[in-house]
Amino acid sequence: MNDLIANRDPDNLDSSNGFQSESDPCQRAWVEVYPNAIQENVRTIKERLADTCALMAVVKADGYGHGAETVSAAALKGGASSLGVATLQEGIELRHAGFQCPILLLANLTEAEELKSCLHWKLIPTLSSIREALICEKIAQDSGRRFEVQLKFDTGMTRLGCDLYETPSLIEAIFKLKNLKLKGIYSHLALADGEMHGRSQQITTLQQSRFEDVVNTLPIKAREDLCIHLANSAGTLRDKSFHYDMVRVGLAIYGYSPIEYLPQELNLRPALAVKARVCLIRDVPAGVGVSYGHGFITARESRLVVVAIGYADGVSRALSGKVTALFNGRTLPQVGTITMDQMVLDATDSPELSIGGVVTLLGEDGANQVTPKDWSDLTGSIPWEVLCGFRHRLPRLVI
Ligand SMILES: *Cc1c(COP(=O)(O)O)cnc(C)c1O
Repeated sequence: MNDLIANRDPDNLDSSNGFQSESDPCQRAWVEVYPNAIQENVRTIKERLADTCALMAVVKADGYGHGAETVSAAALKGGASSLGVATLQEGIELRHAGFQCPILLLANLTEAEELKSCLHWKLIPTLSSIREALICEKIAQDSGRRFEVQLKFDTGMTRLGCDLYETPSLIEAIFKLKNLKLKGIYSHLALADGEMHGRSQQITTLQQSRFEDVVNTLPIKAREDLCIHLANSAGTLRDKSFHYDMVRVGLAIYGYSPIEYLPQELNLRPALAVKARVCLIRDVPAGVGVSYGHGFITARESRLVVVAIGYADGVSRALSGKVTALFNGRTLPQVGTITMDQMVLDATDSPELSIGGVVTLLGEDGANQVTPKDWSDLTGSIPWEVLCGFRHRLPRLVI
């Protein structure tokens, strides 16, 4: 694939040796995905886990915008033993793609039809109440099959999961349902990506002690049979004491740390880059207004280049006038409003950039790098949301 890019002489783009085909993903803008990076990241994280601790790769939202199938295959190669998804559809798609490992649905399904599909596709639903447990029991009974489920309980996230105080009795009740097989119990941390002291530390510790209080009520046999898990990426990297039997890792397998100041440095490699091709060059005088609203007026005689990537592709409009693109080791400021399908870059200081030239919006170029966190810091968002933005329109080039 690298050859394919290198062979593209920018001056020759309209000739037959330009694009390989109409479906060539590199026509205007694309996401490059590096499965080897994901495999390596999983391996790197696994090195921090005890041998008895499994790693679930969280691949919801189409693998955080990287492509769920690509990510799942790479993560399993790297040593993940199960996959986590958010929706029933995401789980079914992975089964259609041939993945046979355990797949946990992290969402809370409520409808009998959905839960029936879970059993059919051997997806493990997350229960939060006796209501769903009884529905599952009935479905399992009718089909003559044992239904594997997990139970989530709330230790302080105040979102999904049953109430803390009712957890032990609910576990007991589920154990009594003959057609259910309770595979695991888990909870979710709310502030694990915060600082290692103060409120984040306090609440994370509180969640952990509530979690352990529930675990400690389990009969020995149940404790041995159940997979107990609490940590997301932040919990996993924060401290070994959050690992238990399994960790559920999303962001970190994609190459980013959710915690700004980690106690230990971790060598994660970003598994994605966003690139775009210059489609038009305009040389303009000083004083020219650029893009909708003329939010930017050229201060000097300028060379502007247009790249065909916009907010419909996942580059938030809130980044207008704030981001920079990379080319040949230099940075190009983005100017004017980012529109649905295009944006304008100031290439005055990069005169060698020509039509068809490729700029990097996210990822590395020589010694420079733009990360999802760089973007999210500019808009008050988070890296997770930036990555989910690439779910829709940009073609993916798996390298
Ligand atoms: C999304 C999700 C994760 C993964 O979170 P990261 O911060 O990306 O590691 C883990 N557990 C649950 C329940 C989730 O919904």
